[in-house]
Amino acid sequence: MKEGKTKIVEEFGSEVVLHFKDDITAGDGAKHDVIKNKGSICCEVTARTMKYLNEKGIYTMFLEYLPPNKLRARKLSMIPLEVIVRFKKAGSFIRRYGGNDGEDLPEPLVEFTYKNDELHDPLMCVEHLEILNITTKKIAYAIMEEARKTATSLKEFFDQKGFELWDIKFEYGLDEEGKVCLGDEISPDTMRLRKSGQIFDKDVYRKDLGNPMEKYEAVLELCRSIDL
Ligand code: 5GP
Repeated sequence: MKEGKTKIVEEFGSEVVLHFKDDITAGDGAKHDVIKNKGSICCEVTARTMKYLNEKGIYTMFLEYLPPNKLRARKLSMIPLEVIVRFKKAGSFIRRYGGNDGEDLPEPLVEFTYKNDELHDPLMCVEHLEILNITTKKIAYAIMEEARKTATSLKEFFDQKGFELWDIKFEYGLDEEGKVCLGDEISPDTMRLRKSGQIFDKDVYRKDLGNPMEKYEAVLELCRSIDL
């Protein structure tokens, strides 16, 4: 059994069961709270969005939703990277490169950050990944292509519901055959989702803008149009 900040992973042969906890964190773990039902909401959003992606031909870890807060998934050898796809400027992009919140980027941008709280998830280019033995250039380029396609598919889903997907974070692993597969989670914790200036994601928590679960529940309602 492995336990992270927001999930517990139990292994069963070539599969795992992920338990989504009610913990919410921000600022490399500096801010931490426990919010009732947060785990089950993020778990169900992950299950439904990954089911949608599977149906679009995108390879994800998702096998089965085990209500309320567990998923049966493929076991992956996880690559310690956060893969961010941005459609609009926000957050750390603006801190690094300037610009205004919500400004369009001319095309989707893929960034890699190294998952390491002590180093504050440093931004990495493909050369770093190979030289630091995090992954090969070949896998890194495969992940970039997969991440761009996956984020664009999710953006289309939210566009149809009248919501704007500004950016999203993915985590990838390799399956038993060494194939790149989407793992971890897709939820309001891992994306910026906006509608008419309203925030429907973890920025509500990061910026202390009220009870984030009201917004998380609204996102779950949208995703309930995807059958399990
Ligand atoms: P930024 O780099 O602008 O802070 O985040 C870009 C996107 O990736 C946002 O949707 C944000 O929620 C997500 N993201 C970045 N780092 C993390 C992280 O450590 N944990 C989670 N859950 N999401 C992250």
